[in-house]
Amino acid sequence: MKNILEIALSKGMAGIGLNAEEAREFAQLPEEQLTEILSVTERIRRKFKGDEVDLCAITSAKTGLCAEDCSFCSQSVNYATDIRSHTMLEADEIIENAKEAQASGAREFSIVTSGTKIEKERDIEKLIDALKGMKGSVQVERCASLGNLTPETMHRLKKAGLESYHHNLETSRSYFPKICTTHRYEEDVTVVRNAKEAGFYVCSGGIFGIGESWDDRIELAETLAELGVDSVPINFLNPRPGTPLEHSENLTPRECLKIIALYRLMMPKTDIVVCGGRDLNLRDLQSMLFCAGANGMMIGNYLTTPGRKPEDDLNMIKDLGLKPKAH
Ligand code: SF4
Repeated sequence: MKNILEIALSKGMAGIGLNAEEAREFAQLPEEQLTEILSVTERIRRKFKGDEVDLCAITSAKTGLCAEDCSFCSQSVNYATDIRSHTMLEADEIIENAKEAQASGAREFSIVTSGTKIEKERDIEKLIDALKGMKGSVQVERCASLGNLTPETMHRLKKAGLESYHHNLETSRSYFPKICTTHRYEEDVTVVRNAKEAGFYVCSGGIFGIGESWDDRIELAETLAELGVDSVPINFLNPRPGTPLEHSENLTPRECLKIIALYRLMMPKTDIVVCGGRDLNLRDLQSMLFCAGANGMMIGNYLTTPGRKPEDDLNMIKDLGLKPKAH
């Protein structure tokens, strides 16, 4: 009888993800088997993603001032954090940030705003102006993470040049009420569905290290696979002072790698992009994230915390014999 890694390899190379039962068996593998796990995930990543690394960068176009209570987030008005809040940036500031992102090596650039939706028509107009301006002056793929937009607003933004839409589910449906009480999981699922229906390339993933179990990680992967998302951003908690999770212990680098591997094995063909909390949680093992199955990462600063110098990341990619995906 085949063991779980043999099953994972044969299914993965055929583009078929592990089911939940198999994933639970995978989750029980001891960390001593990490090298064997990574040899499987590396082969699957190479088969579907080759030697290309997708690099994305973001700008926080509206920061803080959010009425939601996500327990990991320093942008919530419910917590006393040191976040420097600001209302929506002007279109030309967003375009400048996109240019900087391109210069730092990013292929994709996302405009991210705090809160569950954009309330003001004036802010939508700024975003439309920014997208139109980017179209003429920057080569980056245009992505946005703007919360719960109506399908009509999504279509307006698409017409202005938006290509990808990002909206994280954050964690499993079962665990979500433990980290957010101000909106329902289904609202986030609806955003992802609407973005798919609008024809965007859709990025949706979660944050790990917030007290979730392996069952929650598996449940989230199942939900994302069912929704047919195109890319899964994986974030690791960077505990922010003032938030309810400020005293959480970081995951170990090896557990982070195993989480990335789980997603590659459950979603063999999907893009997997490691984002916030990468250097803090993976530390010296971060170059192994590609062996674990990721084919992309965020470059530059994260949403509310600083990242590594872009040139260090570009050197790491080169040293690994990989190359940034072209524009
Ligand atoms: S994660 Fe988003 S919705 Fe939740 S508190 Fe932070 S900004 Fe608000």
